[in-house]
Amino acid sequence: MIQEDLFWFSMEEALEMILVFAENGRIIFANTAAKQQLEYGDELRGTHIGEIFPNTFHNAEEGFETSLGFDLTLQELMAYRKNRTCFAVRAKVIADPKNRGQYMCLAEDISQKEFLEKSLIQVKQESEDALKVKSEFVANVTHELRTPVNGILGNTRELLEYETDERKLRNLQLIEHGCRDMHNIINNILDFSKLEAGKFLLEPQKFHFRSMIDYVKGNHQNKIIEKGLEFFVTISPTVPEFVIADELRIVQILNNLLSNASKFTSVGRIALEVVKTAQVQNRAELFFFVIDSGIGIDKADQDKLFKSFSQVDASISRKFGGTGLGLNISKQLVELMGGQIGVQSQKGKGSTFSFSIWVELPEEELGHVTENVSQTVVESMLQSVQNNADDGNAWEYGTEENISELEKKLSKLVLSVEMENWEKAEMFVDGIKQLTENAPKEVKNAVLKMKMAIQKENYEKATAAFEVFQTMLHESTDTIK
Ligand code: ADP
Repeated sequence: MIQEDLFWFSMEEALEMILVFAENGRIIFANTAAKQQLEYGDELRGTHIGEIFPNTFHNAEEGFETSLGFDLTLQELMAYRKNRTCFAVRAKVIADPKNRGQYMCLAEDISQKEFLEKSLIQVKQESEDALKVKSEFVANVTHELRTPVNGILGNTRELLEYETDERKLRNLQLIEHGCRDMHNIINNILDFSKLEAGKFLLEPQKFHFRSMIDYVKGNHQNKIIEKGLEFFVTISPTVPEFVIADELRIVQILNNLLSNASKFTSVGRIALEVVKTAQVQNRAELFFFVIDSGIGIDKADQDKLFKSFSQVDASISRKFGGTGLGLNISKQLVELMGGQIGVQSQKGKGSTFSFSIWVELPEEELGHVTENVSQTVVESMLQSVQNNADDGNAWEYGTEENISELEKKLSKLVLSVEMENWEKAEMFVDGIKQLTENAPKEVKNAVLKMKMAIQKENYEKATAAFEVFQTMLHESTDTIK
């Protein structure tokens, strides 16, 4: 008995509507949910099922007619309330296997759900449309901006050729520098908005791979060496001579990674390495590594790096500039070329950015052995990079190597201050700061004093601070000997 009570109780209180009707089409049981949602009272019992579902059940002499199959399939039906307004339900109508000529309809109101789904689709569509309009607008504006900037840049360069007056020359150089920066930012925004709007097309062409790398090397060599850093470029012999790919875009990614590497490194070295990791018929996978011994990136910040407009540290960005778009653009370009980009880094020790791309091989490259270098090469390279990064003693304060590096940086620093090139001076003092990270407190204080004097562009204070620091260096050199 208890079981039967329980059965009726659950039928009565179920959240979905339950209607049981007989062969003659008359409802013989309707639960609370059905009465409430259909806005009927007890008279629902005895009502013809065709009143509730007029599009599905028709009143007929023998009872009802319907094309509905009485199985477990879910159907979408329109249910009519007593006041003849209607709403959509998802329903199952089954024939009672125990009582012949008795049917049960279980129905759930989906009008609210459908409404929400429709609104969600509409909102999504609207936001996508808005994003597209915004991207197109940004693309148009930046395109328009590029023309005048190019004009100013061209004219300034022409004036630079003939100008002899020192002060005017300096002003023109500043204008040229500013325009170049602006030009780069505009190009970045243009690429970014094109990529976002899905309007970006790669332009693959055959080119000589090593010449492209030489070109990239030439773009960065002077700046890196000027900073007193070492620069290594290695291309594995298995990398093909000619490839078919979008050369400009590969250059763009490498320029971005190498500019960042030199921007954020003030001591040590920067390396660019390329290996071929796989070949499948006329397609090859190339792996690039850009390794630096710079300021590094916290683990927590590494994931944010490739998101648009993301810069790790606002104070760093103020000092080094940049829009935070470079790595996001690089990521999107790498993915368009069928590859992936990632970073391994340790704060204070350096970073390794690596990315893969797939390129096509022209006819003449296909005769070469087709080998699959697979992940092992990449893994061993990453391992060696990791070992380098883990080698925390590389710049341990007081070692012979460290002191000689400090002396080199200090003499460059003195020279920059003599020439009142404060920007460069700050770069060298940052190098010294990194080299003295683990030094005793008094040494670190001396470096801080040099840095403060340089930031204030105070010649006297800076030279006084150099002397204090130099004496400290000589003292440590004496202890080594
Ligand atoms: P930006 O144009 O601002 O440099 P990027 O997307 O190229 O934009 O870089 C985003 C941020 O990632 C930088 O502002 C910096 O904080 C960090 N970053 C990138 N490369 C390095 C690196 N080699 N070493 C340390 N930090 C880096």
